[in-house]
Amino acid sequence: MTYQRILLKLSGEALMGELAYGIDPMIVQGIAEEVLEVVSMGVQVAIVVGGGNIFRGVKGASAGMDRATADYIGMIATVMNAMTLQDSLERAGVPTRVQTAIEMKEVAEPYIRRRAIRHLEKQRVVIFGAGSGNPFFTTDTTAALRAAEINADVVFKATKVDGVYDSDPNKNPNAQRFNTLTYAHVLTQDLKVMDSTAIALCKDNNIPIVVFDLSVRGNIRRAVMEEPIGTVVGGSCEIS
Ligand code: UDP
Repeated sequence: MTYQRILLKLSGEALMGELAYGIDPMIVQGIAEEVLEVVSMGVQVAIVVGGGNIFRGVKGASAGMDRATADYIGMIATVMNAMTLQDSLERAGVPTRVQTAIEMKEVAEPYIRRRAIRHLEKQRVVIFGAGSGNPFFTTDTTAALRAAEINADVVFKATKVDGVYDSDPNKNPNAQRFNTLTYAHVLTQDLKVMDSTAIALCKDNNIPIVVFDLSVRGNIRRAVMEEPIGTVVGGSCEIS
């Protein structure tokens, strides 16, 4: 097993399932069971969770809100997701800590890097809420940042598709999936993996990104075992 410490990025939408808004408890329970599986294998798991299932700053701003205020609301939304995940994980028997980049000490620990690492060493799952604490950023960038800070071996970008394609597979039946991709290729071709700040951070710190479909049961374990289930960004370019 190459990956001892992983940073799992879950979008808010990943918690939504088929709902139009909010959180599907069954979906969250399924994720918790998958995380339990890899924690039981001895893998250290940190999670950055998004908030798009509840609120997105850009959307608020396009409706006339002040962008920074809207982004703070988006960050607070991620804390609701983080606490929901924590509840599910702990019910599944996984000790968990939530750390937030905006202090909310009644409900979670503040983000303290060294403490987060200590929790991971003690086999606790650490969920990072409130993004980076800064407006104008995303939780994808937060995932890359936290991965670098905690020396994660890899970022797992769990999505709804089974990897990165050269064009939209829903529109183009001949779209081809990449097995592997370079960071430079993602940036120059503007491929939809993570935003460019996140990709650049992973590139600078040599952190591979594995993009895979979260809806397939067992995929977190398969990704940890390095089974070819999606696209790995970091190596060379190779079409499957
Ligand atoms: N956000 C922010 N700074 C951060 C991370 C998130 O301002 O460091 C805000 C931003 O408004 C974003 C929202 O939080 O739209 C929810 O995060 P994101 O859109 O990344 O969630 P996801 O798409 O992963 O569900």
